[in-house]
Amino acid sequence: MTRMAIIAHGGAGANPDAAPNIQKAVDIGAASLMSGSSALETAVLVCSKLEDDPLFNAGTGSVTRSDGSVLVDASVQTGDGRLGFVVSMPETPNPVKVAAGLIDEDINGLAGVGARKWADERNYLRSPVVPRPTGKDGSTDTVGVIVVDSDGNLALATSTGGCSDRPAGRVGDVPLPGCGFWAGSGVAVAATGIGEAITKQILSFRVHNTVTSGEKTMPDAFDEAIKNMFGPETEIGLIGINRDCETYARANTSMPWAQWSSA
Ligand code: ASP
Repeated sequence: MTRMAIIAHGGAGANPDAAPNIQKAVDIGAASLMSGSSALETAVLVCSKLEDDPLFNAGTGSVTRSDGSVLVDASVQTGDGRLGFVVSMPETPNPVKVAAGLIDEDINGLAGVGARKWADERNYLRSPVVPRPTGKDGSTDTVGVIVVDSDGNLALATSTGGCSDRPAGRVGDVPLPGCGFWAGSGVAVAATGIGEAITKQILSFRVHNTVTSGEKTMPDAFDEAIKNMFGPETEIGLIGINRDCETYARANTSMPWAQWSSA
């Protein structure tokens, strides 16, 4: 049995008071891991708990787009190379579950009404997503989770309503492999912040490679990427787990996060 670990964030630039809510979801995940759940099951569980919490811009509580719609993105990846992601899904309070449903399919990414149709055919919950109240700043508060289970399997899950007041067709980093997330070779990374800036840098993949190549430790890779790839005005955060099952979180702004690891 290897050391188990969970780390989760509640968004770059998000209210630091959200940390206890993240810890609560992580602790639910820890109990699930201890009773034998896999890394993938646990990552999806923790992420869906955060989606259900209206404090976060993911699932319930997502921000509205400039046309008033609420469209959600999510992604799931395992350390052994399985991947699923959904983009701009309407009426989907738990997009992470749909993303997880795609990981063993031939098609691993779906968008918009096509994603919703696929989900309807498999009975994933369809329900109008209750957005965050207008007036509350909601450009951030995206969620991301990374888990290692007792067999050493790695999995991650991310979910967001995107950045507020962006057009309905806007695609951020969260559902884009290598941008908002990347896992493999015993290392996983998830990003948060301004999606357009993250996407331009292919941030998660590059940081992941810096760590797996041995060029830098994870905290150094995080610090240097945040400092060198982005201006201070661009909110960016990263979480990760390295090959020694150590958890790290870094951001150039407030970023509530929580972690758990077995003895
Ligand atoms: N990266 C997300 C997006 O641009 C937002 C966030 O992380 O807060 O959609």
